[in-house]
Amino acid sequence: MIRFTATSKRYPGGYEALSNVNFYIPAGQMAFLTGHSGAGKSTLLKLIALLERPSRGQVFINNQNLARISRRRIPYFRRNIGIIFQDHQLLFDRTVFDNVALPLIIAGQPRGEVDRRVRAALDKVGLLGKEKAYPITLSGGEQQRVGIARAVVNKPPLLLADEPTGNLDPTLSTEIMRIFEDFSQVGVTVLVASHDLALISSLPYRRLTLEQGRLSTDSDPAE
Ligand code: ADP
Ligand code: ADP
Repeated sequence: MIRFTATSKRYPGGYEALSNVNFYIPAGQMAFLTGHSGAGKSTLLKLIALLERPSRGQVFINNQNLARISRRRIPYFRRNIGIIFQDHQLLFDRTVFDNVALPLIIAGQPRGEVDRRVRAALDKVGLLGKEKAYPITLSGGEQQRVGIARAVVNKPPLLLADEPTGNLDPTLSTEIMRIFEDFSQVGVTVLVASHDLALISSLPYRRLTLEQGRLSTDSDPAE
């Protein structure tokens, strides 16, 4: 599902944030991307979501070479990827329902389908019944789950999460990881960037570690 081949990213100004990175994540796998702040985790996720382009090497998503995707087609490509941010980026003047519905509205889905899919997504994150609530009235963990519901509402085959538990306590963090596990069990590929080593060590998933832009270890407890 995700393949990096000799991929490097040098930002304007000369800093090489990723150096010759190689790995493959098969469809349906859940994996962690870890490393210190500045190691290149966000940059790697940005290359997958086409928020940045590599300066050398290639990125393939679902066997598609991203170099072949023109700027014009990027919005369509991104519909295949659910992205979850640390600060969840919810709209605070809209209800939970409207926040989760947004990607479907943008994609031009009919009203009945929007209703059905929003409910299915809220159900998966345990927030059915909160449709009419405003995000400000929810706890931090609930707000993050709304962000996850929005990311999965159009059933993307790939989920990317950038420090999704950064502001949560250990119990809530574990809950968020369980939700990701549920998605990986139905075939969704999940890549979670996190520097929360205590959390990552407690879970049996593959771990890709970046050190100053280089992939230093790639360990899978299942192997
Ligand atoms: P992480 O997510 O692991 O903290 P990042 O991918 O955000 O790491 O950053 C890796 C390195 O690239 C850092 O040194 C950062 O300062 C640098 N960097 C990130 N984005 C940019 C940018 N847009 N322009 C220049 N340098 C950047
Ligand atoms: P629908 O009724 O439209 O098929 P559901 O949300 O009820 O929608 O999902 C049906 C099945 O698809 C469930 O088993 C669900 O867990 C699974 N699923 C949910 N999200 C994804 C996804 N991103 N990719 C693949 N399967 C998914």
